[in-house]
Amino acid sequence: MTAEVDKAARGHLLRADRQEDLCFAHWRPSRGHYRTTALIERLILSAEGERNVHGNAGFEPAFLERAMAEAAANGAGLALLHSHPRGRGWQGLSPDDVIAEQSNAGAVFGATGYPFVGLTLAGDGAWSARFWERTSPRTYPGEWCATVRVVGDQLSMTYMDALAPAPRPTREQVRTVSAWGEESQANLARLRVGIVGAGSVGGMIAEALARTGFEDVAIIDFDWVEQRNLDRLNYATRADIGHLKVHVLAEHLRARATAERFNVASVAAAVYEEEGYRAALDCDVLFSCVDRPWGRYVLNLIAYSHLIPVVDGGIRARTNRLGKLAAADWRAHTATIGRPCLQCLGQYDPCYVQLEREGQLDDPSYIEGLPKDHLLRARENVFAFSMSCAALQMLQMLALALAPLDQPNPGSQLYHFVGGFMEEPVFGSCHPNCVFQSAIALGDASGITVTGHRPGRSGSDSVGDP
Ligand SMILES: [Zn+2]
Ligand SMILES: [Zn+2]
Repeated sequence: MTAEVDKAARGHLLRADRQEDLCFAHWRPSRGHYRTTALIERLILSAEGERNVHGNAGFEPAFLERAMAEAAANGAGLALLHSHPRGRGWQGLSPDDVIAEQSNAGAVFGATGYPFVGLTLAGDGAWSARFWERTSPRTYPGEWCATVRVVGDQLSMTYMDALAPAPRPTREQVRTVSAWGEESQANLARLRVGIVGAGSVGGMIAEALARTGFEDVAIIDFDWVEQRNLDRLNYATRADIGHLKVHVLAEHLRARATAERFNVASVAAAVYEEEGYRAALDCDVLFSCVDRPWGRYVLNLIAYSHLIPVVDGGIRARTNRLGKLAAADWRAHTATIGRPCLQCLGQYDPCYVQLEREGQLDDPSYIEGLPKDHLLRARENVFAFSMSCAALQMLQMLALALAPLDQPNPGSQLYHFVGGFMEEPVFGSCHPNCVFQSAIALGDASGITVTGHRPGRSGSDSVGDP
């Protein structure tokens, strides 16, 4: 859910008199390759007489009827939210909770076509959640969620320890853990992080994650290691030329991960292909390390429609007429709820997204025809620039998840190598008519189709080493 929905729910459910309370909500599915997320779109609060809050909170049948009808009319699923004001952390279910949720799961599924979702809010703000999915006629067993994410300026997670156990810090991680403490490390290490683009920047971020103790990393890239990459890829050697970047990088990470359990998924696809897109939707946070507009466009939709923050960055270098370095700039920013999106930040041009989808950007003569300083022609890059850009992106993500001294947002950052200075960070918002702002938490129902076939490649080809 967004931080805004979380705040409204806390305001309503955590009452001053410390009685339990409840409300309903609409939810939308976000289906990844392995994970289904129920995105809480909006709350449905009770009208006069629709609930009672004495002892265990209960609702009148008319409240459920109204909430179901509204969800069905809206094409959304239905969720029941209630509070345990004296509880701390992930909450279990009381017998009354089971009755309230399971006994209505059939009616809710019948009305909406989606499983009934139950959420509990503890007094300390921790959420817990489960799906009541139909497995056979009249059978709706509860299935716990592993995590609940609240996404805004900060990324806050509640984990169900039984499904997502807190990792024990390893001896290799002593210095890392001493920087921010065991609790923060446990919350950080359990984030599932996706890296879109295994180039020089993506490779360094991936190594930073593996060494920091992250347990679950996905790498999404369809490209192969080439000789001309070897000046910048921290993970590749001459022996790797011709191999898929995702496989070479995954091996590199396995040898360097400091976590006891380390899982790296290699996804040999573009993020705009169905396979890459669904893999991205399995993640809690994404790094955008792509240099083309279509990938950024896809990630931008994911950040707002699917509530998965996207840490983006980019390097731009330019030589003058004499072939000497005239400018090298890199930026880092995070697209998330409450901050401006990548399109409003000017990080890609929607018109070039269309050209890329049509395959025009793979036509060398088209690229040659662009002005020499055009973003799509700026291929100059060196290891040191990538290192600095990767560090800025990594710090953006750490700030988002750790929020040190309640400061999760470093703003949109731009560093100039020539002159050696960082510009004042920018804290803006989207344009008033930004389409992504009206797609927040709609998930698979956003109505915006961003995936397609990779240009120059038929839909059925498989990717393999050449
Ligand atoms: Zn309860
Ligand atoms: Zn925008």
